[in-house]
This record gives sequence, C-alpha cells and structure tokens, in this order.
Amino acid sequence: MDIREIWKELGIDLERHDELLEALPEVYEEIFLSQENRPERMSYFDEVVADIHGARVRELYEMRQEGKPILGTFCVYVPEEIVLAAGGVCVGLCGGAEFPIPDAEKYLPRDLCPLIKSSFGFLVSRLCPYCQVATVIVGENTCDGKKKMYEIMSEHKDVYVMEMPQVKDEEGLEYWHEQLIKFKEFVEELSGNEITYESLLDAIERVNAKREAFRKLYELRKHDPAPISGRDANLIAQIAFYDDVDRFTEKVNELNEELEKRVEEGEGVAEEAPRILVAGTPMPIPHWKLLYVVESCGAVVVCEESCTGTRYFEREVSTEGDDVEDLIKNIAEAYMETKCAIFTPNDERVKDIIKKYKEWNCDGVILYNLKFCQPYAVEHSKIESRLREEGIPALKLESDYSEEDVEQLKTRIETFLESIA
Ligand code: SF4
Ligand code: SF4
Repeated sequence: MDIREIWKELGIDLERHDELLEALPEVYEEIFLSQENRPERMSYFDEVVADIHGARVRELYEMRQEGKPILGTFCVYVPEEIVLAAGGVCVGLCGGAEFPIPDAEKYLPRDLCPLIKSSFGFLVSRLCPYCQVATVIVGENTCDGKKKMYEIMSEHKDVYVMEMPQVKDEEGLEYWHEQLIKFKEFVEELSGNEITYESLLDAIERVNAKREAFRKLYELRKHDPAPISGRDANLIAQIAFYDDVDRFTEKVNELNEELEKRVEEGEGVAEEAPRILVAGTPMPIPHWKLLYVVESCGAVVVCEESCTGTRYFEREVSTEGDDVEDLIKNIAEAYMETKCAIFTPNDERVKDIIKKYKEWNCDGVILYNLKFCQPYAVEHSKIESRLREEGIPALKLESDYSEEDVEQLKTRIETFLESIA
C-alpha cells in the first residue's frame, strides 16, 4: 500500500501534513548534514529522519493490522519492557515542533509548556501518523500540565493514565510497584496475551541491550576531542523513542564501532572546543534549536542530562528473580531511579549533574528549561546555586520551539563561553 494511502486511512490531514514535512529537508541539511567530519554511520539516522513519517509508520500500521497493540507514550516512566512482553510496541509521542501549537491553543492555555501543547496539537490536528496509528495513549500523572492535558486528550482518543508517586521512599516504591502490576494487567487485556516470565525476561534483555548501546555511545563522548557532536547524539536519543528496539540497538552499536576507531585515532568533531553539559527538560524531535545554537557558537555538547539523554538509558533493569512478580519489582526499582523534577525532594539530581560535569570533563553546564515548565524551572534555581558553590560555571536558559529567540540565545551563550574560555 502506498504510504499516502496509509496516512489517509489513519485520518491524517494530508494537505497540512504536506506543509509540515515541506520545511524538514532544508532545516535538516542546515543543522545536521552540513556538519564537517561527521561519522559515516549517522547515515542510518539520517535515513530515518528523511523518511520520518514513512517506513516506521508503515511497520506500525502493519503491526496494528496484525492485532498488535501500539501504545503511544509521553514519558520515560512508561515501562517499554511490559509492552514488548505482551507483543506490543511503545511509540514516544512527545512533540518537539512549533507547527501544531496554534491547534493546541484552541483547547489549552497559551502559557503552558511547548512540549505539552505540541504533543496535544499533533493529535487534535491529525498531523502525526504516530498518534493516529496508536491503539491507545498512555499518560502518566507527572507534571500538572500533562496531568490535566490527558483529561482533554481522552475526549479525542483512548487514554490510560498511570499514577505516579511524588516521593521516592519505600511507600512510593510500593505504590509504583502496584501501578506497574495494574499496567501489566491493562496491557495483557489490550493485547490478549499473557505476560510470562520468559516473555518479560526477553523484553528486559532487549531493552537493556538498547540502554547498553547508549551507555557506550555516551562513554565515547567522554573523550577529547568528542568523536560525535551533541546534536547528532541527541538526534539518536530522539529516534530511540519510536524506532524498532533491536534494529536501533544494532545501528547504535555499529556507530559505536566507528566512534571507537575515531577515539583511537584521536579524531573528533571539534578540537579544543569548550565542552558543555546540557541538563534539563527533554528535547523531543525536531527540537534541535538549543544544541545547534550552542555548537554554532563554537562549543561541543558532550552530554545531555535529560529524558532525551542520560535519563533515558541509565537505569538498568535486573534480570534476577524467578517469576513475573520479581521481574516487575525489578522494573519498578530501576525506573524509580530516574531523576525527574516532578519528584520531591530531588536532591540526587544535583549530585548527578556535578558527577556528570566531572566525568565528561566539562567546562560548563547549561541548565535548560522549556518555557512554563515549573518543576524544572524551580529546581534549576536551586541547582544553579549549588553549582556556583562547587565553582562550576552554569548558565540558566529558557526557550520554546519558536525561532524568535535564536539571536538572544546566541548572545547569552557566546558571553557564557567567553567567560569560561
Ligand atoms: S521530564 Fe519527567 S515527566 Fe517529562 S518525560 Fe522525563 S521523566 Fe517524564
Ligand atoms: S517539560 Fe516540564 S512542563 Fe513540560 S511536560 Fe515535561 S515536566 Fe511537564
């Protein structure tokens, strides 16, 4: 079936969708393809973006035709292992584009985080085939904006909401464990498949392999000169949210082999450039602005403490245990390690940022916040003071998906880079 036929069947607004995709090649050329000395094995990820609503959408569409459930997600707390174990697929739906935001603002307040508005806008404007192909959307009670957005979203699509604890203590963990058991039952009912010890173990091993590939990639970025740019590494993290798990792992491992050779030969993307750690809110595809601006100013981003970065892959789920119950407990424990600002207190995050600053041999930290994201904005004020006490140069930045503030961002980043030179 022709891909346009699939889009049509999924209910996509074809005319506006053409408009949406029209701008992509030029922007991609400028931000990614024009980079000098880029690893050759980025070609797979380039192909994925070039065909962003094509091949993968077709795969998911065919899976849905075969009766496999496609679960659209918005947070790294949704356990992909449980979905895979039931024969389903997880697809990240976090929106990173400005284009559908006016559609969202017909329903949602303007002073809301762009990630929430973009994600919601994609759904209501029927511009995202991933939203359309999803059997159900899995929300989570994390920040207030998302929590309330899911209420409105459920008027447009089936939504299942996971309850989240707010505190990481024993009771919080127990509560979270119970939520995962409920989620497992929900996925089993949706798929018609019982999750067995074998299927869950296999899913854990597959997702752990993906995380391991990521870990290697980020380890390689510790070298000086960095063998890959920050924007390329972040692109890979963005693609991880919707690509096939095993294929993606294989492609990242192939890239890692190339990067290892580069490291051995002392080859990198930016010699003697200031090394920056970006910490903060997620940067979903195609929100490439910040890293592009930082690197255009002559720095190299070597690590992202973000859900489109280290928060995505750091937790490893233990495979110890004798039954499904044990494995679910392992998932609960590993996922609770994710250091998201919606938890209180979240002091472990500042320690983690300081540790990363040292491990990745950084020269400065950019605390990045999507506009109107309160949990991270409040937390960043506290973190900035702690970094100052440690003598770590830090710059707090807030932005959205528009292009309006690019010059302003450039000026602030250039001044920061001069101060740490
Ligand atoms: S920042 Fe928090 S709420 Fe947002 S995706 Fe990450 S873990 Fe989920
Ligand atoms: S960036 Fe902040 S406000 Fe936006 S969805 Fe994530 S936690 Fe919520």
